[in-house]
Amino acid sequence: MKIYNTLTRRKEEFVPLTPGKVKMYVCGPTVYNLIHIGNARPMIVFDTVRRYFEYRGFEVNYVSNFTDVDDKIIKKAIEEGVEASVISGRYIAECKKDMEAMNVRPATTHPLATQEICGMLDMIGTLIEKGHAYAVSDGTVYFSTGSFPEYGKLSHKNQEDLQAGHRLIRVTGDEKRNEYDFVLWKPKKEGEPYWESPWCQGRPGWHIECSVMAKKYLGDEIDIHAGGEDLVFPHHENEIAQSEAANEKPFARYWMHNAFLNIDNKKMSKSAGNFFTVRDISERYDLQVLRFFMLSAHYRSPLNFSDGLMEAAKNGLERIVTCAGRLRELSGNTGAGGCAPGELTSKEKEDWEQAQALAVKYEAAMDDDFNTADAIAAVFELVKLANTTAGPSSTASYVERLREKLTQLCDILGLITEKEEELLDSDVEEMIAKRQQARKERNFALADQIRGELAAKGILLEDTREGVKWKRA
Ligand code: AMP
Ligand code: ZN
Repeated sequence: MKIYNTLTRRKEEFVPLTPGKVKMYVCGPTVYNLIHIGNARPMIVFDTVRRYFEYRGFEVNYVSNFTDVDDKIIKKAIEEGVEASVISGRYIAECKKDMEAMNVRPATTHPLATQEICGMLDMIGTLIEKGHAYAVSDGTVYFSTGSFPEYGKLSHKNQEDLQAGHRLIRVTGDEKRNEYDFVLWKPKKEGEPYWESPWCQGRPGWHIECSVMAKKYLGDEIDIHAGGEDLVFPHHENEIAQSEAANEKPFARYWMHNAFLNIDNKKMSKSAGNFFTVRDISERYDLQVLRFFMLSAHYRSPLNFSDGLMEAAKNGLERIVTCAGRLRELSGNTGAGGCAPGELTSKEKEDWEQAQALAVKYEAAMDDDFNTADAIAAVFELVKLANTTAGPSSTASYVERLREKLTQLCDILGLITEKEEELLDSDVEEMIAKRQQARKERNFALADQIRGELAAKGILLEDTREGVKWKRA
């Protein structure tokens, strides 16, 4: 598997630190509002990366934080007259709802910055001890970028610019030693949440959060660190400086960055009026369509969001889901007039080989730096093959193989092809009547089976004196 590494600016073969395991950290959102569709891009992209690693047999430890203390959260809390934790708690819950609707699986761990302050104090203390950080008179602690010769290696900053920055002596009253030094800890302002520290009552800078959470949940060295491309500088550059200076080990082996999502070819911005939350989009589309749309481009290509492209995504996804539904129907219909039982015919064997070749093509695309656009093209070819070769005269096993393959390839992309149909009330009543009949005939095995089928669809039965009552779970 090859991954484009921002650090080396090359595609590199993926070699995990521990064979069979992937330790992956993805910077999560700052939770002061509903997430927007730009935030959804890294969520969907890196969830797909995780799924593909798992398909390839890796065990993935996936950590993604929520930044739950920040100027914007505090501002909103003051506006609403509530604690900052009320704001962050509310938007973490909303974010998790959006993630679920986009079929983004919960991370192995979703740490919260406010719960990790101890680790931050420790790391800042270590950095001061090792001469990589300094406190100034008001208690602010800065990282000393001049103490870390590799500063700039991720963002490939021009060394001359950096040196000029390092030489710059500030006379502005802030006691920063150089231009690029960044905050590790800062004093509280009136009305802000704060924690005790050896330097002042205050709160952490943003960058230290991720270094500490990655260390705690994944270790000093991790395989992959990811996020949107805006994070390369300064956030990820600063994370490298902090982690490597404190731990004295290389931090992440591979740095992955998704390109930005624009709207109608313009940068998304609230003030320009072209800003959509994921929730806005969910009012017009199933969020599976948004997911499909995001994956229809390579993650390192800029992606343009427009009504026309969303309609195209909707139609594309529908073609796949319809094909899967038809295969399901065909393979379930093995009675008279339905698919034949028995082994694959020789023609079907040839067709099945073609299907397998398409799966290989799909894997080759994903192995090449997660090229989901080409992987989706292979899925469409599989759909075409299924539409032209599978029908009522096919064997059930051929149809079933196609269905399984299609479902599997879609599942890696997080695309759901088989939505559980909700039972209508009349269907439930009918099944309950059948169960009652079975009980009357003392066929308890059948009665239990029906109860089980209903339970699997979220229908709970209660036997009362007035008869059977039911409710949806
Ligand atoms: P933030 O809450 O701003 O820190 O963003 C959370 C994640 O969303 C980060 O990985 C950002 O890089 C990413 N992100 C923000 N805006 C966009 C966008 N328009 N397109 C793609 N990714 C974005
Ligand atoms: Zn981060």
